[in-house]
Order: sequence, then structure tokens, then C-alpha cells
Amino acid sequence: MFNIILFGPPGSGKGTQSEKLIAKYGLIHLSTGDLLRKEIAAATPLGLEAKSLMDKGQLVPDAVVVGMISSALTANPNANGFLFDGFPRTQAQAEALDKLLDLNKTAINAVLFLQVNEEELIKRLIKRAETSGRSDDANPEIQRKRQDVYKKETLPVAEYYQQFKKVVEISGEGSVDEIFDRLCTQIDSRLGK
Ligand code: ADP
Repeated sequence: MFNIILFGPPGSGKGTQSEKLIAKYGLIHLSTGDLLRKEIAAATPLGLEAKSLMDKGQLVPDAVVVGMISSALTANPNANGFLFDGFPRTQAQAEALDKLLDLNKTAINAVLFLQVNEEELIKRLIKRAETSGRSDDANPEIQRKRQDVYKKETLPVAEYYQQFKKVVEISGEGSVDEIFDRLCTQIDSRLGK
């Protein structure tokens, strides 16, 4: 199995690049943001609880997202590998993921960290708000809050994986195809291609 974490701040292009990467490498895409939005659309109790937090730019509790990831891993025992997008977002989630993968006799191969300057991130989120229909994209105050939560709670995840030398920093600026090529170069070198 080959497992990747696509890491980076809100607006860094994780969703866009994930779509292209899963198509090329046959990985299963696990986006906790997408899984949560599905729960919201289906109006489940979990979705209702998540929506009020997401609309404020806050994180959903670790136990909720870890539970969703655990189910997805169990549901796909024969996967080539997984691409984690928007997860893990706290150090506790990273530690829980490592345990789950260990139980499944696999591990994270690389954390691909998309680097984008803050001004560009805000620009992209404002643009995305025009088409995404996402209530958490539309409001500048919530956008700022999400960047703050990212710095405080999510950046430590990169430090956590740095101790295992798994983090690769990749420029997330330029065209979609340029960024995709950079990601593929890193993945291919780890696949021995
Ligand atoms: P973005 O990367 O643009 O912030 P996501 O779709 O990944 O968008 O996440 C949207 C929201 O969903 C987050 O602001 C957060 O409230 C919630 N969320 C997604 N993934 C997680 C996670 N792993 N842990 C906690 N909350 C999460």
C-alpha cells in the first residue's frame, strides 16, 4: 500500500490536486471535509453537529473524524493506498491515524506539504466562494479564523511528521499542472519510478 497525506492551509489546492492524483495513481481519496459535507447534505445527527462548527471555522472533534477515517479504512481492505486530504488536522488525529494504519500493517509514505503565501490563499478562497456554495468560504472573518486554526492546531501535524522525515515541501504556487508535476515527481521517486 502507498499512503500519502496532502497537507497545506485552506486554499492551498489540496482538493484540486487530490482529484488528479487519485486518477493517476489509483488511490482512494479520503477528504474529511467532503465526508462531513456528505453528512450535512444527508442531515444526519453527525452532520448537524459538524455544520455549526464548520460554519464558525472551528474544527470538528477528533473522535468524529477519526471514526470516519477508521470506517473508510475498514471498508477498503484491498486498496492500493489512500490519499488523505484535510486529515489529520491535529496532532491527536495524526497519532490516531498512525495507530490505525499500524493495525492494518501499513503506514504513511509521505506528507506532501503545499506551500502558498497567505495573500494568495485569501485571494483563492474569495474566488472559490463565488462557485463553491460553501458557507465557510463566503465570509472573510471565517476565512481568517480558518487560517488561525490552521496555524495553531494543524501546523503541529507537519512538525509531528518531520520527526519521522516524512515531510516534503512543495511549492503550491503556479499553474495547476505545474503543481501536479511537482507532486508526481516526489511520488514517483518514492515509488521507485
Ligand atoms: P479547507 O481545507 O478549505 O479548510 P475542508 O473541506 O478540508 O476545507 O474543511 C472544511 C471544514 O471541515 C473545516 O474548517 C473543519 O471545520 C471541518 N473539518 C474537515 N476536516 C477536519 C478534520 N480532520 N478535523 C476537524 N475538522 C475538520
